[in-house]
Amino acid sequence: MRSASVCAPPALHADINAIIGGYLRDLAQAQPTPEKMYGYKRAAAAILALDTPLPDLVAVDGTLPRIPGIGPGSSRVIHEVLQTGESPTVEQAIERSDRREEIEQRRRLRDHFLSRAEVHRVLMDPALSGPTLDDYRGDLQMHSEWSDGKPSVQQIAEACLARGYQYAAVTDHSYGLKIARGMSMTAAADQRRAIDAVNVQYDGRFRLLQGVEANIDAAGRLDLSAGEAASFDLVLAAPHARLRRPEDQTDRMTAAIEQPAVRILAHPRGRITGSRAGVVADWRAVFAAAAARGVAIEIDGDPSRQDVDYTLARRALETGCLFALDSDAHTTTQLAYAEIALAHARLAGIPAARIVNCWPLDRLLAWLSDPTTATAESDG
Ligand SMILES: [Zn+2]
Repeated sequence: MRSASVCAPPALHADINAIIGGYLRDLAQAQPTPEKMYGYKRAAAAILALDTPLPDLVAVDGTLPRIPGIGPGSSRVIHEVLQTGESPTVEQAIERSDRREEIEQRRRLRDHFLSRAEVHRVLMDPALSGPTLDDYRGDLQMHSEWSDGKPSVQQIAEACLARGYQYAAVTDHSYGLKIARGMSMTAAADQRRAIDAVNVQYDGRFRLLQGVEANIDAAGRLDLSAGEAASFDLVLAAPHARLRRPEDQTDRMTAAIEQPAVRILAHPRGRITGSRAGVVADWRAVFAAAAARGVAIEIDGDPSRQDVDYTLARRALETGCLFALDSDAHTTTQLAYAEIALAHARLAGIPAARIVNCWPLDRLLAWLSDPTTATAESDG
């Protein structure tokens, strides 16, 4: 299996851990009790989070090492898939469950999601162009204790410095998104003071920006006024509702891009692996609007989002877009999700010059103050 992969085009490389994780998720959905379902979901998550492809973990005698979360049932599935590429155990369980239709539907919602092992492979693959970890200077979407995240802005600054970043943006939810404990404008003013204090402390070494993740409503408007938006260093616009509708929402997305304050269209589809496809739109038209205004298309690195993925990112690249590669972290550990976004950018072949996170701080700030002048030089 490993030798075959060497000859395959990079993007068509079989992500064996993603395939096995998918089978375990199918098996979870086919279980009669919530307890058993939970067990296989946990097993799937464990496989998807492995650093190493499963074939590399098999010993000469064919056995696997102990992997936390993997019991005998999951082990059987792993061995079946490693040996044959399929799992009769899972297919039989689906047949017995009479939930085949739902499971098939969930399968279709797992396209182009990368396992952690595949992300590592892509980051190290010298055959791929696109940004490396060393090119990445700062993360532009993350959440703090000021909305639905855990860390303080101080802890975020320390964690970003430890990752070698030169800057980052804290982008808590704005007040319109109650479900994510959106931040009031009074709280935003307090947060600004906390960020200013961090910037005094790390002056010359690291810069923390105050961003906001604004919610896009049904008509493409943001959940904060133009004046409120202007008080932040960076405005991301993102859809959080109407994500399971079959109708076209191109107008909604282009209207959001036209809002003067918006610099990044974050997790543009709002898809979730195995659960929902997100916004349906003419993405070429959306990307053309973004390219014309100098709005960056985000590759959101949250493992369950991976939104946009490398296939859609390629279309945005052809349309002339800028990109933002972000973790969407809610804890400092999750800052590593930026690596998933980087892997998609490498699979899409996006040059570092087109990625705002790879720019030096002064260029990033120039783009934030005037996105249209910064785009003219972005192809250099
Ligand atoms: Zn969001």
